[in-house]
Amino acid sequence: MKLLDMTRKYGNATYNYPFEPYKVPEGFRGKPAYDYEKCIGCTACAVACPSNAINVKLNEDKSKLVWEFNCARCIFCGRCDEVCPTNAVLLSDEFEMAVRFDKDNLKERGELDVECCQKCKNPFTTSKLISYDIERLKKAGWDEATLAEKTKYIRTCPECKKNIAVENSTQYFVRKRK
Ligand code: SF4
Ligand code: SF4
Repeated sequence: MKLLDMTRKYGNATYNYPFEPYKVPEGFRGKPAYDYEKCIGCTACAVACPSNAINVKLNEDKSKLVWEFNCARCIFCGRCDEVCPTNAVLLSDEFEMAVRFDKDNLKERGELDVECCQKCKNPFTTSKLISYDIERLKKAGWDEATLAEKTKYIRTCPECKKNIAVENSTQYFVRKRK
């Protein structure tokens, strides 16, 4: 009777889960939810992920950049959520993640189109990332000539950028010696 009195006074201390949905508290770190449309393939989430639950790399024939998430490895730290520039990956309220028989059902995957370097023609980044960078440049208000120059630079792979920098510095020293 004392227990019934306390229940009447303070209300229920437990939830009726799984017979009714369980409402998680604010700031709950559930399964990272991936939004393919928003993903630009910048790889920031893969670099930040401490448990290698996210991998972003080119496929075998280098025609696509593959974003892959393995929930079995996730420790729900939220680093991917913090670093993603476009909110393509956000921790959700989802906590029911059990799968039957096949652990591969815990994996998620997205494939993004790849762009080739304007100089060496080798694939190096995604078309979405290039468009994203160009949009940001446009918003920065650069004049047409600078914008064209910077766009060309964005469409150049890191290896070619390095070679151009070495070439430029060599020419600079040759000029200085003359
Ligand atoms: S929450 Fe942490 S462990 Fe899980 S995918 Fe994101 S960065 Fe990796
Ligand atoms: S950080 Fe965001 S935009 Fe970049 S690859 Fe990961 S999910 Fe995609």
